[in-house]
Amino acid sequence: MTSALDHRESKPVRARAATPGEAPEGIAAEDWSSWRWQMQHRIRDAEALAEWIHATDDECRAIEALATRFRFVITPYYASLMDPSDPNCPVRGQVVPVTDELGDAAGLEDPLDEVAHSPVKNVIRVYPDRIAFCVNNECALYCRFCLRKRMVGDSEWTMQKRELETALDWIERTPEIRDVLLTGGDPLTFGDDRLGWLLGRLRAIPHVELIRLGTRLPVTLPHRVTDELCALLEAHHPVWVNTHFNHPKELTPAALAACDRLTRVGVPVGNQSVLLRGLNDDVATMKTLCESLVRARVRPYYCYQAQLLEGTAHFRVPIEEGIELFKQMRGRTSGFAIPQYVLDTPYGKVPLDHPWAKGRDGDDFVVEAWTGDVWREPNPRD
Ligand code: SF4
Repeated sequence: MTSALDHRESKPVRARAATPGEAPEGIAAEDWSSWRWQMQHRIRDAEALAEWIHATDDECRAIEALATRFRFVITPYYASLMDPSDPNCPVRGQVVPVTDELGDAAGLEDPLDEVAHSPVKNVIRVYPDRIAFCVNNECALYCRFCLRKRMVGDSEWTMQKRELETALDWIERTPEIRDVLLTGGDPLTFGDDRLGWLLGRLRAIPHVELIRLGTRLPVTLPHRVTDELCALLEAHHPVWVNTHFNHPKELTPAALAACDRLTRVGVPVGNQSVLLRGLNDDVATMKTLCESLVRARVRPYYCYQAQLLEGTAHFRVPIEEGIELFKQMRGRTSGFAIPQYVLDTPYGKVPLDHPWAKGRDGDDFVVEAWTGDVWREPNPRD
């Protein structure tokens, strides 16, 4: 039997284009820029991966050991951003398995208890007025730190149309719901027909004021953000998009163009990153990421503490270090370039930056400025 290790020297890695993210040698630009071609040609095994990187022994062993546990899929576009020779490449680290995933005694399958918060299949309700609606279980690729790794790529979580209808009926019968986040998986892996049907059904519900899309496709498959898709979103406003860039390397010309197409049709685009050990947990990287996003008119919104999720101990950063990182950004870049550092819990998100607000001391409210100076603001009493 051929092992993952055997594939490493079987063929040379593909030569990349001079511009990151453009069609590499041997692939027609027309194919490369087709999101359906990208989906059909995703990398699913060590043999296909050998076209893009020189996998290490550890990566090869992890691909075999995790084959039936945490699925492994990468778009050719995203693979082309990986450094073929550097196992510490921050793009590669997000999607290529490593054996560290096998040893995480504390990690949980569903750390936010999402299943227990679901009134109907794949609808997660933590807050009274808004829901996360997991409309499918498919993504362009599977991130190794994914909160929903229990379901992405798993057919058990596929939403049949009648199940989507059941969820829509529940939303219709629940008038408190004013804000619906379409997530998954990734809602943009739907074709325009299905997405248009879903958006149309939601727009017909009078109490649904806001539709949000949580999608990583502007990062992992920017070719999905076509003019047709943008016109579809524009027709269902107000529609907001939150995407998920974790590292400046992901901001290729193609990804920036996808964000630009969205903002041009009036879709506010925000970014929700995850703080990842060794990938983006230093001030210089985070600052470059956030400033690059702002230049692209993408607002850094949240940065999540990596969850207590199975197989992800190697990604987790101590919260004190995360707090210090964002504190170091204060005063050193535009305020709106600093995302809110949050911990998601079964009770909802908790901002982790509150230590700066020290609270009342006598008639004052005490805060700590970015310089470390303590400021006492006279604070009225009721
Ligand atoms: S794109 Fe999002 S939902 Fe999909 S695997 Fe990555 S983190 Fe999970």
